[in-house]
Amino acid sequence: MIKLIENFFSSTECDDTIEEVYQNQSLWYQCNETDMYVLGNSLLRNQSGNYLDNNIYNFNAVNLFKEKLSILFPKVEFVKHLGKPGFQIIERNGTSKPCVWHYDSILICFPYEKEFSDFTNFNDYFDEYYIFTLMMTDGKSSFDFYPETTSNFPRKDIEETEKPLCKEHEDLLGDVCANPNCQLKEFQTIYYTPGSLIVQTERVLHRVGSVDIDGTPASRISLQGYGVVKNGTMYLCW
Ligand SMILES: [Zn+2]
Repeated sequence: MIKLIENFFSSTECDDTIEEVYQNQSLWYQCNETDMYVLGNSLLRNQSGNYLDNNIYNFNAVNLFKEKLSILFPKVEFVKHLGKPGFQIIERNGTSKPCVWHYDSILICFPYEKEFSDFTNFNDYFDEYYIFTLMMTDGKSSFDFYPETTSNFPRKDIEETEKPLCKEHEDLLGDVCANPNCQLKEFQTIYYTPGSLIVQTERVLHRVGSVDIDGTPASRISLQGYGVVKNGTMYLCW
C-alpha cells in the first residue's frame, strides 16, 4: 500500500526544517551511487563498515516527526543503536542519478541484532514495516512507481526477488529498458506538496519523480525514515 498524508507538517514546520537542514550543511554527505546528499546517520552512507551509534545527530524536525507519528501509531520510539531518521537533499542542478529505479532493499540489510538481541530475520521478526518520505520543499515533487511490482521483501538468504517482473528495470536510469520482454509499461506518479508524507507498507519498484530534476537551482529536501514494528511498538531507523 502507498498512502499520501497531506499537511503532515505545516508550512511553518517545513520552513523551520529547511532552515535546520541548511544550518547543518557542513554535515551533508554525498552518496557516490546516487549523487544525493544525506544529512544524518543513514545506513546508505555507512554500508561499507562503521554504522555508528547515532547520538551525534539530534534534529528538531526529526523529533517533531516522531511526535506527529505518535498521533497516528500507538507507540513510537527511536532506535538506540541504529541511525535515526534524517534528510535527503537532491540538488536541482545536479545529475539525474537520484532518479534511478530501485527497491528499498536496504530495509532488510540493517544490523538489527544491534538493537534487538533476539532478532532472527526481517520477515519473521517484524510484524509490520513502514517507509516514510516527508517532503519539505515546494516545486515539483513526485514519486513514480510500478504498482504491479508490489510484494514483500524477499528473504536476505534467497537471491531471487519475489516478483521479478523485470530484473533489468532495477537500477535503470530513465524509461528505456533493455529487456525486450519487459512487462512493465506504465508507471504511476504521486505528486506531493510541502508537508506531505508518503507511507509505503510494501516493497515496490519506484524512483524520485523524473520531472523533479529539472535544472533549476533550488534543491529538493525530504525527511526520510523507516518504521519497523515489534510487539506493538514502532521503532524509527534510517
Ligand atoms: Zn524492464
